[in-house]
Amino acid sequence: MAIQVTLIESTANPIRALYMAYRVCYSALTPQQVLDRIEDERISQETMEEFVSARLKTGHTSPLEQVWFEFGIAGVSRAFSHQFVRHRIGISFEQQSQRYVTYKDGTFPYTVPATVERAGLAGDMHALFDQAGTLYQRMVEAGVPAEDARFLLPNATNTNFKIAVNFLELLHLCDQRLCIRAQWEFRKVTALMRAEVLRKVPALGRYLQPKCGEKRLGYCDEEYDAWKACPLGRKRPHRSELFQLYDSYRKGELEDLGAAEFAVIEEQRVEGAAT
Ligand SMILES: Cc1cc2nc3c(=O)[nH]c(=O)nc-3n(C[C@H](O)[C@H](O)[C@H](O)COP(=O)(O)OP(=O)(O)OC[C@H]3O[C@@H](n4cnc5c(N)ncnc54)[C@H](O)[C@@H]3O)c2cc1C
Repeated sequence: MAIQVTLIESTANPIRALYMAYRVCYSALTPQQVLDRIEDERISQETMEEFVSARLKTGHTSPLEQVWFEFGIAGVSRAFSHQFVRHRIGISFEQQSQRYVTYKDGTFPYTVPATVERAGLAGDMHALFDQAGTLYQRMVEAGVPAEDARFLLPNATNTNFKIAVNFLELLHLCDQRLCIRAQWEFRKVTALMRAEVLRKVPALGRYLQPKCGEKRLGYCDEEYDAWKACPLGRKRPHRSELFQLYDSYRKGELEDLGAAEFAVIEEQRVEGAAT
């Protein structure tokens, strides 16, 4: 089956929750007084969004832990799930069990990567998994419990999740897993999570980017060769280039702006003034 990602639930009013969390830090008002001002509309939604947006540019990140998102994720492989559950802070997982769920009729759902299809080897994969399914069924019929029969099953076997993740960890997850260096299936799941948040809470969804995004680091911190090979590398500088540039600036090596540049500036100013 195709991968499915659904945003099931989230903090009821994430912007208000973040505004309250940040405002309480920086205000002489009590939380109740801040809440009163929100409820009688002395503080508007727009004001809250602007305030939160400014805070998101800072290193004050602990308030982001106070907003939660709950997702249902289906049709992912166990190859993906091994990677997913390595995230351990600010995220909670429930995953379909291979102990309590017994596959029926010698079949189990699985994913065939597009690269295998393109290599013309999908048929061989299906044939092997058919055999595995048949043996699995024989084991179950012989009384082998599902928790042991599953030893036959491949990484390709599909699984489902219900997860809860806070906004700070979701940002981190997107930093790592929207990066081209992450595995394609993880990129796909993370992109679908981003799309769900963007749809339901656009003011927060737009912050979900790979770490080189303009709302995150703004540059690539991966290996230089990986950056050179990355399609986003045309739009984002590599960290080493920024340091080189800064070094040149500190050493006074940056080329002076000359008469030619000033001519261009003047030309554009005049053109701008005429329109
Ligand atoms: C491209 C890529 C390749 C990878 N390859 C491999 C691989 O070959 N082998 C492998 O084993 N793993 C691999 N990983 C997994 C990786 O090592 C992490 O386990 C995984 O990405 C989870 O991220 P995290 O550690 O940031 O955990 P998260 O739970 O997402 O942690 C969030 C943040 O909390 C902080 N944090 C979490 N735990 C602690 C702690 N105990 N102490 C202090 N601070 C903490 C850190 O700042 C951390 O970044 C890979 C990941 C990526 C993205």
